[in-house]
Amino acid sequence: MVTLWVIWFIGRRREIEKLASQLSPSLLPTDDTSVVALIVVGIVLLSMIGAGTILLFVWGQRQTSLIQQQRHFVSSVTHELRTPLASIHLAYETLTKRALPEETQKKLLSMSIVDIERLIRLVNQILISSRLDRGLSMFNDDIRTIDIAKAINAVLETLNHLDPNLKDRVRVRCPEGSTWYGSQNALNMVLGNLLENAIKYSPSKGAVEVSIDKKSDQMDVIVKDFGLGLSKRDKKRIFKMFYRSDNATSRAIPGTGLGLFIVKTTMEQIGGHISVSSSGQGEGSTFIASFPA
Ligand code: ADP
Repeated sequence: MVTLWVIWFIGRRREIEKLASQLSPSLLPTDDTSVVALIVVGIVLLSMIGAGTILLFVWGQRQTSLIQQQRHFVSSVTHELRTPLASIHLAYETLTKRALPEETQKKLLSMSIVDIERLIRLVNQILISSRLDRGLSMFNDDIRTIDIAKAINAVLETLNHLDPNLKDRVRVRCPEGSTWYGSQNALNMVLGNLLENAIKYSPSKGAVEVSIDKKSDQMDVIVKDFGLGLSKRDKKRIFKMFYRSDNATSRAIPGTGLGLFIVKTTMEQIGGHISVSSSGQGEGSTFIASFPA
């Protein structure tokens, strides 16, 4: 644009000078230096207009993608609410309308408890991500010495609804008696979200590995799966609020796009960091959460 303008300005110099002399002779350049100054001013102004246009375009693109992600989020949340609610409704309707053997009643009630827990988890995810997004501190009140193996097992218990044979799928490599001094909530939140994803984005029965690598100044929690993997584009975006990859949406894998945002902001709040590696789609993924010692 700038080059075209310079060529046009030089080519039409005579006509421009004629026009300027008719309109206002004071505008006429008196020597070659003022012509160069005029060209430089023109280049600067054109560059600023160009940069402004690019900035507006990028901002517009970002807004469009954010609106799209928020629409996806609303529809995922609606779906995530409707499924367990419909199941609880059906269970209670059956319990009140029919005389069922005690065993069946117990089964229906325990299925409802699983659905209610799923609803509680969803509401908690939304509340937590909103608090973290506003920069509110959440991990100062529960600092203690935590037995890591126990913490991993407790988190796995809460994920049983994803697969009743979870214990057979997940390999835990944690040195005997390993401890970490820090926030229990932060550790649970990070472990819970990383493990849930590793299970959700792997084929059924696909193995998942959790290992602990303790160094002098930090503790790495490594969660590795052999599932869907991540493209280069996804690796850059998965920690953003609401982001879900096409892989997840096209396969209708349930989720809201909040889990990894929670992991990233939690790690930032406690002074740690999270990284991801994957050789590509279908190649599995490895997440490393580095907790400060
Ligand atoms: P959700 O799982 O609810 O969609 P997350 O924020 O936890 O939200 O994850 C964001 C996206 O990152 C997911 O939609 C998925 O596409 C991708 N992702 C996360 N973990 C994995 C994983 N272990 N393997 C492949 N893709 C993953």
